[in-house]
Amino acid sequence: MADFRESDAQKGLREKIREFARDKILPGAAQRDENPSIPVELIREMGRKGFLGLIVPGELGGAGLGCQEFAILVEETARSCAGTAVVVIPHYLVEYAVLTFGSRQQQLTYLPGLASGEKLAAFAVTESTGGSDVKAFRTKAVRVGEGFRLQGAKAFINNASVADVFVAVGKIDEQMTAFLFPGDVSGIRAGQQRDMIGLRAGAVHDVVFDNCPLKESHILGEVGHGLSVVLNCMNFGRIGSASIAIGIAESALEDALNWARTREAYGKTLSELPTIRFELAGMRTELDAARLLRDRAAWLNDQDSHHALETAEAKLKACRVATDIALKAMQIAGAYGCLKGSSFERHLRDAKAYEIAGGTNEAMKITIARHLF
Ligand SMILES: Cc1cc2nc3c(=O)[nH]c(=O)nc-3n(C[C@H](O)[C@H](O)[C@H](O)COP(=O)(O)OP(=O)(O)OC[C@H]3O[C@@H](n4cnc5c(N)ncnc54)[C@H](O)[C@@H]3O)c2cc1C
Repeated sequence: MADFRESDAQKGLREKIREFARDKILPGAAQRDENPSIPVELIREMGRKGFLGLIVPGELGGAGLGCQEFAILVEETARSCAGTAVVVIPHYLVEYAVLTFGSRQQQLTYLPGLASGEKLAAFAVTESTGGSDVKAFRTKAVRVGEGFRLQGAKAFINNASVADVFVAVGKIDEQMTAFLFPGDVSGIRAGQQRDMIGLRAGAVHDVVFDNCPLKESHILGEVGHGLSVVLNCMNFGRIGSASIAIGIAESALEDALNWARTREAYGKTLSELPTIRFELAGMRTELDAARLLRDRAAWLNDQDSHHALETAEAKLKACRVATDIALKAMQIAGAYGCLKGSSFERHLRDAKAYEIAGGTNEAMKITIARHLF
């Protein structure tokens, strides 16, 4: 049987990130939720600490680690601020895309700057016409001379307003193709910021590609292989999504436990009431189940094993559990849980948004059902 227990090195990494998150990320979490804007300087500091290049090989400026360490990073970041953790996901998706599909030249050009956090990345697939059906987008790459003109608009894109590097999909004729290009290519315009209910520090914008001049060398992988790029990267990213949901759930459970330890009713603390204790016991059990599914998916990713089914299960379970635990934590906090600005209500909003972001619960079930039949 596979052993998913963390190695000493992984425990050390978790401790280091937890400490950084407690000291640097947690203090501004409520403020970033109130006034959403991407905490660029904080993210760059994470880069300087080595947290943004965990999966990048050592010779390209990274730590040469894997998906399990990526999961630890986003889980620990999300325990302090889920919105900040969301900024990290597309950054890693782009690194993963370049590592998996990029030419040696593309890897040398982009990975050192991404690993150090000097450059931030966005991964742009969704359009206003729909996100679940990834093939139903309209952005086109029209051949002009030796290169292309990228025309279209993407919606709900993390990091779009600050990205130095983009991966975006467009159609060359009818062939879905991924492109990798710098954020200063002419014609890129961050559009409207969407006022989301949750994950607000990871502000999402629409982005317009207005005849952006791209070259053949900006193609990532091969012409017509865009779907494979997207699905592979999403599979990796969903382990991050599950980890963010787990981080939210851990934080909500911790808040509920702290509340139950001190709040009194009928002359006892809530933690002494059997029904509250049972509720908390159930929350903890569900959280552990979600964590095990996530650990299995991350481990499979690191074995280079096919893992779409296990990843979908991990994302579905973690996101459902996070919303459920956040709701129950709010219930345990009574009226205080319903206070605007309390961490209880923030956890609920963050958790709900992750039942959509990174692929909806239904999209996960479609993948799981496909494996059943
Ligand atoms: C906080 C946040 C951050 C995001 N960041 C990014 C980003 O950085 N880059 C990016 O490209 N996108 C991003 N997205 C977009 C996200 O990927 C999409 O919202 C998601 O894929 C769902 O697409 P949609 O919103 O268009 O819903 P739709 O696809 O329109 O779906 C609407 C509803 O119908 C259900 N549904 C759809 N198809 C089926 C089906 N076949 N069977 C059953 N039910 C179905 C869905 O599950 C959903 O409940 C982000 C979204 C959020 C909320």
